[in-house]
Amino acid sequence: MTRRELREHFGRIRLLILDVDGVLTDAGMYYSENGDELKKFNTRDGHGIRMLQDIGVRTAIVTRERTAIVARRASKLRIEDVHQGVLDKLPVVRALCEKHGIPTSDACYVGDDLGDLEAMQGVGLPVAVRDALPQIRHVARYVTRERGGEGAVREVCDLILAARAPASREPGGLESAAEAVGRLLGRLSAAVDRRLRP
Ligand SMILES: [Mg+2]
Repeated sequence: MTRRELREHFGRIRLLILDVDGVLTDAGMYYSENGDELKKFNTRDGHGIRMLQDIGVRTAIVTRERTAIVARRASKLRIEDVHQGVLDKLPVVRALCEKHGIPTSDACYVGDDLGDLEAMQGVGLPVAVRDALPQIRHVARYVTRERGGEGAVREVCDLILAARAPASREPGGLESAAEAVGRLLGRLSAAVDRRLRP
């Protein structure tokens, strides 16, 4: 896939599906003295998700774990489709696409571990976080520069936003926005050079 094709692919994305542990978090599971589980999310990822929603991109969470923390975080980020306790992710991914009338080719799945493998192979744009397992990076069309929980999701959001910007923003919009888009497109090209598989 050429640089241009990859950019077109990010621009086509209408559904962003995210794993939680290792993607929206650093894969760490923290336990308090009284046994409560804690997770650390990244506020910049959250902002990226909100910006995508603002331009009409659907966002969803599909995770194997089941915790109140994820429900709470998803609610704060206004992520409508939250599927927890999912052992087999591919059927859920397909159902999400069907529900929203979005072809799987226009969906992006971001994963890090083996449980994400089939789901990634079922969408048009499989993305692996930088610190994903090698098998996962291998099936990804794009590997993020940032690690899971440390801005990987924001990076994907920014790439989608940048690729869609010319069509989704007012002509002659904010200069700073145009400059930011230009920078991101440059960054995408550079990232593709580094990470595009032969
Ligand atoms: Mg994971």
